[in-house]
Amino acid sequence: MPDLRFKPQPPQFTEVPRPRRAEGQWAFGYTEPLNKNEQSKKDDDPLNVRDRILYTYSKRGFDSIDPADLRGRFRWMGLYTQRKPGIDGGKTGSLEEEELDDRYFMMRVRSDGKLLSADAVRALGSIGVDFARDTADVTDRQNIQYHWIDIESVPAIWERLEAVGLHSTEACGDSPRPFLGSPVAGIAADEIIDGTTALQEIERRYIGDKDFSNLPRKFKTALTGHPSHDVSPETNDVSFVGTVHPEHGPGFDVWVGGGLSTNPMFAQKLGVWVPLDAVPDVWAGVAGIFRDYGYRRLRSRARLKFLVADWGVEKFREVLEKEYLGTELVSNPSPETPIAHRDHVGVHPQKDGRYYVGVAPTVGRVSGTLLVQLADLMDEYDVTGARLTAYQKLVLIGVDGDKLDGLLAGLDEIGLTARPSNWRQNTMACTGIEFCKLAIVDTKERARRLIAELERRFPDLDTPITVNVNGCPNACARTQVADFGLKGQLVTDAEGNQVEGFQVHLGGATGLRANFGRKLRAHKVTSAGLDDYITSVVSNYLVDRNDGEAFGE
Ligand code: SF4
Repeated sequence: MPDLRFKPQPPQFTEVPRPRRAEGQWAFGYTEPLNKNEQSKKDDDPLNVRDRILYTYSKRGFDSIDPADLRGRFRWMGLYTQRKPGIDGGKTGSLEEEELDDRYFMMRVRSDGKLLSADAVRALGSIGVDFARDTADVTDRQNIQYHWIDIESVPAIWERLEAVGLHSTEACGDSPRPFLGSPVAGIAADEIIDGTTALQEIERRYIGDKDFSNLPRKFKTALTGHPSHDVSPETNDVSFVGTVHPEHGPGFDVWVGGGLSTNPMFAQKLGVWVPLDAVPDVWAGVAGIFRDYGYRRLRSRARLKFLVADWGVEKFREVLEKEYLGTELVSNPSPETPIAHRDHVGVHPQKDGRYYVGVAPTVGRVSGTLLVQLADLMDEYDVTGARLTAYQKLVLIGVDGDKLDGLLAGLDEIGLTARPSNWRQNTMACTGIEFCKLAIVDTKERARRLIAELERRFPDLDTPITVNVNGCPNACARTQVADFGLKGQLVTDAEGNQVEGFQVHLGGATGLRANFGRKLRAHKVTSAGLDDYITSVVSNYLVDRNDGEAFGE
């Protein structure tokens, strides 16, 4: 097996000519901050805010918080101020951030693909009940997201999380954001390789490490050894995707530079084979390139995708090997293609003869109470653990065959069905105007009503049609890769009024037929007209489709 151990060495930064225009790249000596975000990170390492939260702000209250911490460094602890209630989406861009700020926080707790025990699920639920007005959403980055947190409660919440091996460190901010891991790692019969230990090791070594706490912007990681590519690897900054090398066997290809929002780009394959135990070193190399060569002048260009687009994958690989790893990566002559899309909803056999059960809360909306009920069911039916998915779903792992029926009935009773309608299974929604300061439109509640209506109008839909509802152009619910990708914006209604609505991106997908949805100028729809718009497009598809033709084909 090739030796891929990372040999730390001072990067030489000699490979790439200095650009004509300063992009703020540290590797070229541009260490003077070029915008206020860079200045804030230079003034004080954002991870230092943890102690101020624990020992000052939580004791002295909201008004004691330094504004530079409140609207900047708090994010590194997974904390954002939430949107003040009652401000409509038309005002989102026109008000100063402090005018939108509520005195309560949203907190993201990262799961990083971990198998959550019943005790961990119960702890997550009890935090929602005790500190967050019973909120606890499952996000498409495998986080639990709370709302209505006050600063005084944060130390107690962290204590409960730490007791079950969880935390909110670097769940937001210009940092290594929560990792996506395969929900069926280690148990799926058709898995190529189990990447669990690699994700654990990346977290152990690098989360909370000040070498990686000042990145140009967010840095998203995904890792899967499952052949369905169940973590949306195309849309992450770095993805490790299971592959089989003809000589060396199972390992991971490395994909770099994915991201949506404005200027969406799919991650590009380096075409390499990395063994399991070298994954953390390669991760550190890719993150190091982003830290040192990433663009810092403009926030809108400060994602890895822009560097990858400018360099190309050949140069990226060369810099990674020469400057960061000190060794050459093994090329993989047979890069993998995914099998059909799998979100793991439903009942599936494990390789050990037991079963895993994927359940579908509606658009990830869960509650603290529901998580406590789920933990009780897990205990009652001896379920080994639960994982969150990249599709706002939950998967219960390790269910004995003779306990399946009882568990499924119990899940139905608490509203977590493993047999959802096609619409409920395939619709996601971001946070939206209820809590997000950037939002222009409502998303979760709108999507819930949409699902109910489409279930009524198309009760027997026999094919998956994906709907991703987003409250603004930031694409947190992956606007461009759904059959109906909905980007929230103000639109003009029939009477000429500016009202909540969506730009539609049609026919996008990840996986087997990965492509960005088409954005047609004419396909703008008011929020009120959304049900009828989707009904009309789907009705046309159902009438015109050929045998076996999927919606996006
Ligand atoms: Fe907020 Fe926009 Fe992201 Fe939705 S897409 S959560 S509205 S930033």
